[in-house]
Amino acid sequence: MTPIPFVDLTAQRLRLGDGIERAIARVLAHGAFILGPEVAELEAKLAAMAQVSHCITCGNGTDALQLVLMAEGIGPGDAIFVPSFTFVATGEIVPPTGATLVFVDVQEDSFNIAPDSLEAAIKAAQAKGLRPRAVIPVDLFGQPADYDRIGAIAAAHGMIVIGDAAQSFGAHYKGRAVGSLATYTTVSFFPSKPLGCYGDGGAVFTDDAEKAALLKSLRFHGKGTDKYDNVRLGLNSRLDTIQAAVLLQKLTIFEEEIEARQRIAARYHSTLTNLVETPAVTSDCRSVWAQYTIQLDARDQLAEACKQAGVPTAVYYPLPMHKQRGYQGHMLAPGGAPVAEKLAGRVLSLPMHPYLDEQTQDRVVEAIRNAL
Ligand SMILES: *Cc1c(COP(=O)(O)O)cnc(C)c1O
Repeated sequence: MTPIPFVDLTAQRLRLGDGIERAIARVLAHGAFILGPEVAELEAKLAAMAQVSHCITCGNGTDALQLVLMAEGIGPGDAIFVPSFTFVATGEIVPPTGATLVFVDVQEDSFNIAPDSLEAAIKAAQAKGLRPRAVIPVDLFGQPADYDRIGAIAAAHGMIVIGDAAQSFGAHYKGRAVGSLATYTTVSFFPSKPLGCYGDGGAVFTDDAEKAALLKSLRFHGKGTDKYDNVRLGLNSRLDTIQAAVLLQKLTIFEEEIEARQRIAARYHSTLTNLVETPAVTSDCRSVWAQYTIQLDARDQLAEACKQAGVPTAVYYPLPMHKQRGYQGHMLAPGGAPVAEKLAGRVLSLPMHPYLDEQTQDRVVEAIRNAL
């Protein structure tokens, strides 16, 4: 039997015909490889989709987060709150600023940051004399965090909200687009994300014109009006024109792909719901299903049985951040992060992409049914 891909980028490329090749050829012809016309065109289109005024592309999703911390002047004495159940990048950017990284627990059903744990963590940070400055909710597996509740908590403490939407660009929350739900929203165009390029890429969204201008300077070595007169410390973090050209092509089919993901997730739900714990989507939300993640106690046994049956699976994430070796000694919300720890032992992500046909999906479901 043909091997099942976990994410099928080839099917997407075939669907786009020679569109991507021709788009890259146009960049090769005009030669503006850094901040060429495709970058500006992409930023305008992404901002419109995200329902915000400004999109600032950059080198990757991790830099996007770091650029925001730089734009906000985050530093020693500040406390930054991050869910422990996430990809390392969400927390990685905090310690180098000198700010205090505070891990927060998550919710069992949505996998996203738990408002109660966040409130307790803010109090604990204040008790230590720290200034709560920002919370970074993650829209894990493509589903937006509870931005209304988190935004209210943040506002009550004078904090900003930085949405880590690396997995959720294209998702909706109560009718609003991801990108418009936080003070800043960051995304990643890593190839396997729902909107991915053919290398590294990322972007920041904001409605604040001054911060947008600042971010454009920060991504370009902190340049002033003249690029050899640098007025602040910055980074070298720009999206390659070639990657922007790739993304413009992929954007033409992105909405249809998101719809296909809804159909495939619904089919997983109906065939698996009596076998394992299937992921819940909060009402009023549209997930982009970056991952379709089930939960069960015998996770490792199921993963092994799937592997034997030629069905790839993945564990996102086997360790919460506060349990990882490189992240010992940071602050943890009072009561710890028991839900994050429990999820790490129970989650299993299944093959998920817009080109997963019913026959292949049935093979995945059959392998799970047989194993159980
Ligand atoms: C992928 C990812 C990032 C980082 O994106 P890169 O483009 O790989 O730097 C950050 N946060 C989350 C939640 C991610 O999944």
